[in-house]
Amino acid sequence: MSRKKIIAGNWKMNMTPTEAVQLVETLKPLVVNEDVDVVFCVPAIDIIPVVEACKGTNIQVGAENMYFEDKGAYTGEIAPAMLVDAGVKYVIIGHSERREYFAETDETVNKKVQKAFEYGLTPIICCGESLTQREQGITIDWIRQQIKIAFLNVSAENAAKAVIAYEPIWAIGTGKVATTEQAQEVCCAIRACIAEIYDDATAAAIRIQYGGSVSASSAPELFAQADIDGGLVGGASLKPDFGKIVNYNK
Ligand code: PEP
Repeated sequence: MSRKKIIAGNWKMNMTPTEAVQLVETLKPLVVNEDVDVVFCVPAIDIIPVVEACKGTNIQVGAENMYFEDKGAYTGEIAPAMLVDAGVKYVIIGHSERREYFAETDETVNKKVQKAFEYGLTPIICCGESLTQREQGITIDWIRQQIKIAFLNVSAENAAKAVIAYEPIWAIGTGKVATTEQAQEVCCAIRACIAEIYDDATAAAIRIQYGGSVSASSAPELFAQADIDGGLVGGASLKPDFGKIVNYNK
């Protein structure tokens, strides 16, 4: 089965609304590639101006987080309906920075994944091991556990539409990219895990990204791997280089 590549930028806590619109204007002409779904995941306050600036382009807008309740007394949180109403299509769930600094757990990730599907949002579900875990040789076991919990009570129909981002924590923002072999090995194991939880058709449909210091030079080889369906890109998504990453196959 051929899966369309998906390349998403994670802007993290960068860009004021004014800067965000300027960045979209710079990137717009550079990120055209009909072989790729292009997503800009932006800070909550940038969503409305970025959706407006992306109108008429191939760019879809994503959020970097959302809460798992519908609405109510959760000061400072963003509800899924707010994202949908603002024109958001994707939402990053369980990024390692949220797990590390904001106490996200596999259980909250699972609640958010279920809630995202309830509202028709596509979750980009992050998983990844620390350097210590890699050195201990428990990477695959760890990732399998993260995946199994993330997909609890998610139907096969929804799982097939999900995006998983494999992001080794030691490669995020460090300039250390996983080797293509390391990235492919884990993405392949994730697909096998999805086949175990669901079936071969769901595993063949789900899209799995690699993330961790992806650059214009590393993207072509990474995205050519059998089980890597694109990337989640942090630092380089704020630069014109993102256009080269999106056009990795040209
Ligand atoms: C990320 O934030 O998801 C990420 C992969 O960051 P970077 O590309 O900067 O390592």
